[in-house]
Amino acid sequence: MKPYDYLIVGSGLFGATFAHLAAKEGKRCLVIDKRPQLGGNIYCEEQHGINVHKYGAHIFHTSNKQVWDFVNALVPFNRYTNCPVAEYEGKRYNLPFNMNTFYQMWGVTTPAEAQAKIEEQKREVAEAMAAQGITEPRNLEEQALLLIGRDIYEKLIKSYTEKQWGRACTELPAFIIRRLPVRFVYDNNYFNDAYQGIPIGGYNKLTEALLEGIECRTEEDFFARREYWESQAEKIVFTGKIDEFYDYRYGQLEYRTVRFEEETIDTPNYQGCAVVNYTEKQVPYTRVIEHKHFEDFGEAIYAKPKTVISREYSTEWAPGSEPFYPVNDERNSALYAQYKALADKETNVIFGGRLAEYKYYDMAPVIEQVLKHFC
Ligand code: UDP
Repeated sequence: MKPYDYLIVGSGLFGATFAHLAAKEGKRCLVIDKRPQLGGNIYCEEQHGINVHKYGAHIFHTSNKQVWDFVNALVPFNRYTNCPVAEYEGKRYNLPFNMNTFYQMWGVTTPAEAQAKIEEQKREVAEAMAAQGITEPRNLEEQALLLIGRDIYEKLIKSYTEKQWGRACTELPAFIIRRLPVRFVYDNNYFNDAYQGIPIGGYNKLTEALLEGIECRTEEDFFARREYWESQAEKIVFTGKIDEFYDYRYGQLEYRTVRFEEETIDTPNYQGCAVVNYTEKQVPYTRVIEHKHFEDFGEAIYAKPKTVISREYSTEWAPGSEPFYPVNDERNSALYAQYKALADKETNVIFGGRLAEYKYYDMAPVIEQVLKHFC
């Protein structure tokens, strides 16, 4: 008999949740992570009393009550509501696309006026597409134009998306933009979900609660001692890159990475909200995160004299950098399908999370996925 039931490779949300639920069932679990700390990309580092999201901003949102109750039983969540702002050529626009945005863009004040404006813009696009025999949007550009029209596409979507993905909007899949709501009410809440928030005290509290009582070893690279690790457990839960698991035998999947330029500023409130997206081409970064706004509200903002911001620069992934976003274009989707076919044949390996499933996952669906293994 091997010493563990499960070796969990990677202590991010998938791995930590899996370990938590398996341990609850009495399974012997060992979690390994190559980083010096646990939590994967939800890890935060405290600076000046502020939890800095070291691997990119994470905002938990879901409509799944089971998932919401599950995380809140581990650590209560605060009332943070994501209301990002877009900046284009010095002007600010509310996101997601709603009556505030339409007012800022065109001066329209009623839903009927805004709808008429968008319909007029959409009609132009739909007619041009129909003339070419296109019935379904074939890429992100066509999808965005059909969803919201040319003005918003050109000012708030095109360059932001091209900076983020490093590819033309005509080469990106339509589904990426379907994440963004369009609404005819004055409502700047970015998500349509019933629940959202940040763990009180930061995401490390969630990681700690998930992994409480579970054997974890940091700075342990699965691939450095693969045979040894495989000999340790009956089953492996793998949350790393699926192409690496198979030694890149069909080729490398592509990812986008983000470089974070952090700065501490001697002011309590730098930009007035957590997220400002820079949607023009000339600004090299995609967005600026001001971390304290995730957890400090009202007077509490001014109780801390400094603030920490991160400018995000999106670049192509190369070995040595962090693979953050899978690039679900045609080439990569086809390549992933080949690896997935191998994974489906495995009886002792479970693949999960953004990297192992090569999927643009949010946090709540990751937990949903893990819960399915245990029901
Ligand atoms: N997007 C955009 N303009 C914005 C914000 C988002 O065009 O100001 C598009 C862009 O294509 C992006 C997608 O919407 O890739 C999803 O954005 P989201 O903010 O949900 O991405 P994440 O927070 O996961 O990076």
